[in-house]
Order: sequence, then C-alpha cells, then structure tokens
Amino acid sequence: MIRVENLHKHFGGFHAVDGASIEIATGSITGLIGPNGAGKSTLFNVIAGVLPPTSGKVTMAGEDITGLPPHDLFHKGLLRTFQIAHEFSSMTVRENLMMVPAGQSGETLWNAWFGRGRVADEEKALAAKADEVLDFLTIDHLADERAGNLSGGQKKLLELGRTMMVDAKVVFLDEVGAGVNRTLLNTIGDAIVRLNRERGYTFCVIEHDMDFIGRLCDPVIVMAEGKVLAQGKADEIMQNEAVIEAYLGT
Ligand code: ADP
Ligand code: MG
Repeated sequence: MIRVENLHKHFGGFHAVDGASIEIATGSITGLIGPNGAGKSTLFNVIAGVLPPTSGKVTMAGEDITGLPPHDLFHKGLLRTFQIAHEFSSMTVRENLMMVPAGQSGETLWNAWFGRGRVADEEKALAAKADEVLDFLTIDHLADERAGNLSGGQKKLLELGRTMMVDAKVVFLDEVGAGVNRTLLNTIGDAIVRLNRERGYTFCVIEHDMDFIGRLCDPVIVMAEGKVLAQGKADEIMQNEAVIEAYLGT
C-alpha cells in the first residue's frame, strides 16, 4: 500500500528522519515504535503531506505521492488522524463527524456524493452515516454530547470515527493510547481490528504500549535516531539486542 524509500527530513542541520525505508503492506496493521525523538511522528507527517521531505520518495499503490498536500491524500484514502480542533469542541459528536466530508474534502466530493441542491437530503444522509459510525465504535450514546466534554479516550474514538466518514484505505494513528485508560484502549484496539478485518483498512500505528502493539500489530517497525533499526513480529523485536539497546540507551 505504502512504500517509503530512503526518506530524509532535516530541520536545519538536524536529521530527524535519516534515510528511512519502510513498507506498509495492504491489509496490515503495521506498528511503528521507538524511543522518544526517534523521528516517528516526523515520518508520519512527511507521509501524510503535513511536512515536505528533504529527500526520498513515498508511493501509494505504486503511485508517487511524495509531497502531495493532505487534502489530495485524503481523496486517495490516505488519512492521518488529528486531534479535535478547539473550535469544534462546542459542537456535538455527531456534528463533528458530519463536518468531515464537507470540511476536509470540499465541494467536489460533496456534490459527487449527494448531487447538487439537495441540502436536506445531504444532511440526512450525513447524519445517518454519522450514527452508523458511532454505533460501530460503540459510542452511540455520546452522539449529542459536546465533543469538548469527551474523555481523552472517547476523543480518540471520535478521531478514528472521522476516518470512517469517508472511504479511507490507509490510516495513520500517532500515539492512539496516550493518556487513555486500559478499558478505552481496548475499545480503540477492537475498533482498529474490526476496521481492518471488516472494512479492509490498512493501519500504521505509533504507540508506546507494547501490550497494545503486540496484540494488534504485525509487522512492527522499530525506529531510532531517524533510521529503521529492525522490523519483525512483536515478540521477535523485543528480543532484538539492537532494539533493547536503543530503548535502554535513552
Ligand atoms: P518521535 O515521534 O519519534 O518521538 P519526532 O518525529 O517527534 O520523534 O521528533 C524527532 C526529532 O526531530 C526530535 O529530536 C525533535 O525534537 C525533532 N523535531 C521534530 N519536529 C521538529 C521541528 N519542526 N523543528 C525542529 N526539530 C524538530
Ligand atoms: Mg511522536
């Protein structure tokens, strides 16, 4: 699905990503781990078009997508989740979901989906889609809650839900578990697995919780100091001496 070849991202003289090459296989839930400052988020941001690369190449299903802006990638089904923006916190959970196709993909897709001049029907279709998403994520009871009132974990579920309002192919999740309690982390994990199995989503997941990574991800890619250090199954990775050293060395 995604191939990253010899990617560099420099900030001044600092090489945050220093010649990383990774592949994310179609249908996989690929884990990305590594010590703080390893360059994981920077790699995500380059793939997702948030930051331009210094050099290197990113392809999606063989097509060169290097440096394409986020909205173009969105149309191709490549999504990186973002925190619920402050200005949407007073809107309800359902309304936040209904914003996604209009807010992120613009007029063209909107019209293609619903035809012109059928505003009421569009609203109804969007609301129905939003309710289906909330049901899938088992947070339908939160539909009318203001997004700002959600817990950290519920917000993460809403972020995941936003990827379901469109036809996502590959979704990048940066630290899904940060600040989330165990129960909600399991709910998030279940949602990821179901999206993968039932809807064919490919995932690339950055997460520090090794239980979570071990349960969900195959393969797991380890980054350190901007480079790919190892790749393999979670249990193999954790026995790898270079990996152990990278974690202990920081
Ligand atoms: P990770 O997500 O693996 O913890 P990051 O990709 O966030 O690591 O950061 C990798 C390194 O790049 C860090 O040392 C960080 O300080 C640096 N860095 C990240 N973004 C910037 C930036 N915009 N300007 C300068 N340095 C940055
Ligand atoms: Mg990070």
